[in-house]
Amino acid sequence: MADQLDPDCIFCKIVAGAIPASVVRETERTIAFRDINPQAPTHVLVVPKDHYPNAATLAAADPELAAAVLTEAAGVAADEKIADHGYRMIFNTGAGAGQTVFHAHVHVLGGAAFHEGMV
Ligand code: 5GP
Repeated sequence: MADQLDPDCIFCKIVAGAIPASVVRETERTIAFRDINPQAPTHVLVVPKDHYPNAATLAAADPELAAAVLTEAAGVAADEKIADHGYRMIFNTGAGAGQTVFHAHVHVLGGAAFHEGMV
């Protein structure tokens, strides 16, 4: 069961359409939009519409939804034509790992040569 939508969560507000985002893909249960502070030529975030604080809690509570997030991330890579060269999927999990938005999301990064420390 998903947590209640968190009125203070920025990604819940994007899901609800309360604040704008550059949406690139959407399904009934997921939404993908461009990161506001891109770290690569393609930098898209894929999030479940239900609120879970991180990828681990999402996967534990709803593995089917976690899989849908990964499938959409691969779809973003195909749409953006970054798959052939290689791309990264990153789940920052916990503040110590750099997570700043506590609504599960995967970063899809590509379109440039990678270097250590990207995101
Ligand atoms: P985290 O550090 O939690 O893994 O990633 C959160 C990401 O969300 C950051 O890369 C940040 O730039 C992005 N972000 C934060 N607020 C917004 C917003 O209002 N709109 C969009 N599109 N991205 C955001």
